[in-house]
Amino acid sequence: MSKTGSCLCGAVSYELSEPPAELGACHCTMCRKWSGGIYLGLEVKPDAITLKGGENLTTYTSSPWAERAFCSTCGSSLYYRVTAPGPHQGTFHMGVGTLDDTGDAQLTGELFIDNKPRGYSFAEDTHQMTTDEVMAMFAPSD
Ligand SMILES: [Zn+2]
Ligand SMILES: [Zn+2]
Repeated sequence: MSKTGSCLCGAVSYELSEPPAELGACHCTMCRKWSGGIYLGLEVKPDAITLKGGENLTTYTSSPWAERAFCSTCGSSLYYRVTAPGPHQGTFHMGVGTLDDTGDAQLTGELFIDNKPRGYSFAEDTHQMTTDEVMAMFAPSD
């Protein structure tokens, strides 16, 4: 597993401070539309990534709590990032496919499992959360 990644054309690249071990899938409608399939993300803390060529990113505010960034040239989906205040603010979910070498990172979780298209399923034994469970996890505590 490498710690480096980039978009398809190379205009945007990044380095992580440590190689990720786990990845998660999101079946929500927004991730499906945005990625064109299933979004597989690596959770990365804001201070654990160095982005290069960030000026080549376009960010799209997809909801009041998050933004999505893609390369302005090649369109690769680089990351989903939480913008809402709280413990998750600033957390990146880097697209697994943008890693130079995806190594042995294991699929361990699936979000919005109730929105998963019926025509496919992952074989891995994952921690699955429904829309209600995800919303409860991210809801403001006050
Ligand atoms: Zn690109
Ligand atoms: Zn999603």
